[in-house]
Amino acid sequence: MLTSLSILFAVMTLANFMSLAIFGSLRHAGIPGISRWMAANLLAIAGMLLYALRDASSSFLLVVLGNALFCCAIVQGYQGCRQFFRRPPAMLLPYLGLLIAIAAICYWNNIEQDFDARVVVFSIFFVCMYAGMGWLVWAHRKPKRPFYAYGFMLGVLALGVLVSVIRGVAYGIGAMHQTTLLLPTPVNIAFVFTLLLVLPALSIGMAMLAHDDMTERLEYWVNQDELTGALTRRGFFARLHAVIEQTSKASGVFSVAIVDLDHFKSINDQYGHAMGDLVLTRVGQLIVSSLREADVFGRLGGEEFVIMFPGLHRQEAASRLDILRVSLRDDYSRTVDDAVPVFTFSAGVDEYRAGEPMENLMRRADTALYAAKAQGRDRVVAADDMPSGPGPGPGPQGLPGAIDEMAGQLGIRTTIRADD
Ligand code: GH3
Ligand code: MG
Ligand code: MG
Repeated sequence: MLTSLSILFAVMTLANFMSLAIFGSLRHAGIPGISRWMAANLLAIAGMLLYALRDASSSFLLVVLGNALFCCAIVQGYQGCRQFFRRPPAMLLPYLGLLIAIAAICYWNNIEQDFDARVVVFSIFFVCMYAGMGWLVWAHRKPKRPFYAYGFMLGVLALGVLVSVIRGVAYGIGAMHQTTLLLPTPVNIAFVFTLLLVLPALSIGMAMLAHDDMTERLEYWVNQDELTGALTRRGFFARLHAVIEQTSKASGVFSVAIVDLDHFKSINDQYGHAMGDLVLTRVGQLIVSSLREADVFGRLGGEEFVIMFPGLHRQEAASRLDILRVSLRDDYSRTVDDAVPVFTFSAGVDEYRAGEPMENLMRRADTALYAAKAQGRDRVVAADDMPSGPGPGPGPQGLPGAIDEMAGQLGIRTTIRADD
């Protein structure tokens, strides 16, 4: 016969099937923990089906197997969370707790019939597992990511702990009492409903965490250049735009340098593209290791890089770059491979002028770079070192336009007006 609790179990079984389908769609993304979460759902589904069909089941199957399936499901969910947060599986406590809980449920079902004691054991076990998951989520949340998914998980787990504690205490102190399994009283239905709701809600939280993990990866690949470790054009201009906004508000100073490897084509021609790539990778590594934490390093394309130096005037930035230029030229062939050609770079530097669009600054740095090339390469030229002063230079005319195009794609305004 269908009771209200049977219907509840059947509905929750469906909810867990939905979660399973969502996890299935995430499997191909290779997110750690997904397989465990799917296993947890399958175990919960089996447990719920058993409970939904409780009239047709024997008491032992229903009580011991049903409880064991739910307990195993939460352990799998917990291990999935550990895997998701790149932690090794916990081999002792969850399984020890699982054994004790199942043994206690067996005892109070088969040897001494005590429904209340079983509820207490079940509640203690779930409180421990929910609290453990909550601690994992809290301790391993990523401060730079939106808090939404973590907050949802923590809220659901807190609800699970709260309801389990109230139910466990109520049965423990004798405020609630049952002699037969899951009496469909209103209070009992409320308890069971909330506890059953926690399981699919946890799955939704886990799916949110998985989605955020994928978003983070995509953002990384969109903004990070694989070969050199620098930011991509997109990533760099987004940061530059943020710094310009900040600088405009705080009337701060910063400089930008465009760095171009000298005669790089001949390295490719002479040694092959693989060697060219190796050189680019090493250049990226050496530049990154020589920069301050606040400096921003990007790859404009090919063998052309860009560095932003917050807080530095153009001459200070030029001096730092000159040290980098000499160390790169002198150290490279010694540190990597004697067969690698010694190479140099040229750079143009200028500082930001309050209120100007970012394309003006880039144009002046580019002009200084072309002056450095014209003066014989292997040098750093600051915009004010140029005899004719800054202005539209011989650089590629496409650069400012490309900046505008990039800014347009990003939804960024490159012109900052005085009234901003
Ligand atoms: P200059 O001193 O005037 O800058 O001369 P250059 O040879 O460095 O400049 P040019 O622009 O003529 O050549 C740049 C070369 O960089 C051409 C292209 O084959 C190479 N290049 C661009 N991107 C990559 C890359 O990702 N890997 C490799 N190996 N080569 C690249
Ligand atoms: Mg070059
Ligand atoms: Mg170039």
